Amino acid sequence: MTQTPVQSWLFPTSEGLYCEPGQFFIDPRTSVDRAVITHGHSDHARANSRAVLGTAETIAVMKARYGEAAGGSFQALAYGETLTIDGVSLRLVPAGHILGSAQVVLEWAGKRAVISGDYKREADPTCAGFELVTCDVFVTEATFGLPVFHHEPAEKEARRLLASLNMMPERTHLLGAYSLGKAQRMIAVLRELGYERPIYLHGAMVSLCTLYQQLGVSLGTLIPVYEAGGDRLAGEIVLAPPSALNDRWSRRLADPLTVFASGWMRVRGRARQRGVELPLVVSDHADWEGLVQTIIESEAEEIWVTHGRDDALVHQIGKLGRRGRALALVGYEDEDE
Ligand SMILES: [Zn+2]
Ligand SMILES: [Zn+2]
Repeated sequence: MTQTPVQSWLFPTSEGLYCEPGQFFIDPRTSVDRAVITHGHSDHARANSRAVLGTAETIAVMKARYGEAAGGSFQALAYGETLTIDGVSLRLVPAGHILGSAQVVLEWAGKRAVISGDYKREADPTCAGFELVTCDVFVTEATFGLPVFHHEPAEKEARRLLASLNMMPERTHLLGAYSLGKAQRMIAVLRELGYERPIYLHGAMVSLCTLYQQLGVSLGTLIPVYEAGGDRLAGEIVLAPPSALNDRWSRRLADPLTVFASGWMRVRGRARQRGVELPLVVSDHADWEGLVQTIIESEAEEIWVTHGRDDALVHQIGKLGRRGRALALVGYEDEDE
């Protein structure tokens, strides 16, 4: 079979990464005819595309968030199942990022590209573990693409939270966490460590936690704060989106101690800025070591970087003797992760 370089059939456009022979976009930044979605975070899963392909869990998340606007038609693909779209072979493999998250493996004209979406290598009780697929072109993010970023094991950080709770039972422990993925992961890790008390939820957390439970992820007893009555929840864990940590909402709680679980908590200034008393360095993205390790193991001769600290990572890729290319795709944010 003649081999055609990947960049002749997979390339960035203003709408996002486009597979020309298959006529579909991966995580397009706008609505398109055919979208393949890696996972449900809002900067990857946009509303209103005509046809949407993703894992069943990703489709469920999109429907929960967007309702009717989630898309025109949906096709769920299980991990490992292969589909051929206009001659392009496509399969989804676990990315280990959040429930349902997938890497997109494309093969055409004898070459293989892997578009990893967001990913992490660390175990996560709420989703399938990252699977490595070797390829010719590996497409990676670089949210934490600087050597300073090192994420701690989530269990270790959750233990610090439980220790603080033990020491200060008069204070409500208000845990800020991104509402899709991180929140459910923190709950599941606390459960694994044997924490069985109810965990209280800010109203904005309820629907996605319920969806996770419906999709088979056990999270124990969860109670919305608005159902907890006049209780000021001293000594309890209350989960809230990061934006709610310092707003008026939190003043109802008993002497709240602010905790924040995020990869950004590696940077002391960021924790200070947000008034975080107990920063937990937990991320659903690969840290520097995870990025570099994955790039090496992918055996790809070419690595494309979608967003984040692409300058530092592309430099490192060059030092590894591979070709790095910054796609600088717009529309992806550093999730409030
Ligand atoms: Zn994401
Ligand atoms: Zn992302």
